[in-house]
Amino acid sequence: MIGVYVHIPYCVKKCRYCDFCSIPIDETAGRYRSALEQEIALSRAKFPDARVKTVFFGGGTPTILPPEDLCAILDAIRTAFPVEPDAEISIECNPKTIGFEGLKRLRDAGFNRLSIGLQATQNDLLKRIGRVHSFEEFLATYSAARDAGFTNINIDLMHGLPGQGQAEYLDAIRTVAALGPTHISAYSLILEEGTPLYDDVIAGRETLPDPDAVADMEDAGMDLLEQLGFMRYEVSNFAKPGFECRHNLIYWHNEPYLGLGAAAHSSMIEDGFWVRFSNDASIPAYLKKIEKGKLPRAERIITNTFEQMFESVMLGLRLVEGIDRKAFFDRFGCDVIETYREAYDKNDRFGFWDRSDPACLRLTPLGMDHLDSVLRDFRQRKLIDFLR
Ligand code: SF4
Repeated sequence: MIGVYVHIPYCVKKCRYCDFCSIPIDETAGRYRSALEQEIALSRAKFPDARVKTVFFGGGTPTILPPEDLCAILDAIRTAFPVEPDAEISIECNPKTIGFEGLKRLRDAGFNRLSIGLQATQNDLLKRIGRVHSFEEFLATYSAARDAGFTNINIDLMHGLPGQGQAEYLDAIRTVAALGPTHISAYSLILEEGTPLYDDVIAGRETLPDPDAVADMEDAGMDLLEQLGFMRYEVSNFAKPGFECRHNLIYWHNEPYLGLGAAAHSSMIEDGFWVRFSNDASIPAYLKKIEKGKLPRAERIITNTFEQMFESVMLGLRLVEGIDRKAFFDRFGCDVIETYREAYDKNDRFGFWDRSDPACLRLTPLGMDHLDSVLRDFRQRKLIDFLR
């Protein structure tokens, strides 16, 4: 069983903090749908036995494409691969890019989970980070989504934004939680080099809250989300029970997924090997290869068992449930704690492990706050030692 990710790399305009693979929509969008349909057919020939349990249209802003194009792409996936009857089929959407009719069309075509990018509820903050919509426009999109029949809705929020204090962030959480979504993603702003926001911060034209204030904001936000019934299940993701994002769980469980579209990444078993591959990030290069009948691959790496084990650790420790030791043993033939004994013991001294369930390797909330340093210790484990 695999997840399928479809990347739609177009937006109305770039947000000031964004370094994702997306561009303001241009004339290439007209060719993109048929390129995706062709890539789906080529992928089918490559992976004839794949069965699909989740589909995720992400971006960019998928809903910037006409709904009929999005439905046609989903139809092409269904034609090429058996899609489970209860598959989770998600689509990301930005306010103002789609109305009731379009959302209804998506819902009727089988999309059953919507993820709306909001980020903040205060219009001055939205403007400062270059979002193209207001909070009121978000409310209109949310209400249209409900009317169109979407009951499983995620809302994205951010903290650490320029001009944002803890009160604004907590107010945003309370306001969106009151609308009744099933899932809230709560990300910290990452200042990425090369973005307009980065340049403004470096030049002193913009100021971010200091890191301690951001950490306090994050902690207070987590507490509030849990009080409001949204349980943390991953570093930045909170859900009502039973509404965890099944597609993203595929990534965190290090299961196979197929990425389609420019810049999409995949992790699949191909010709007997576990491989990671990515598509061309340049849209013209992607279109050119596809239009010549070729898969648009930019990179293909065969991963060995040792690398897969580390990836399973790196991804699995993001989850509150942690890593299922038996599942790890069944897949790799060794126990995760014994394999990484040195890193485990070192981090045990700091109280980073939650020992409440011996069947799992899982971090405490404090350990999750130090995930990067924990993973650095796990990364020290050398292939040569493993082979001894
Ligand atoms: S809407 Fe999302 S993908 Fe598009 S520019 Fe903004 S942050 Fe980037």
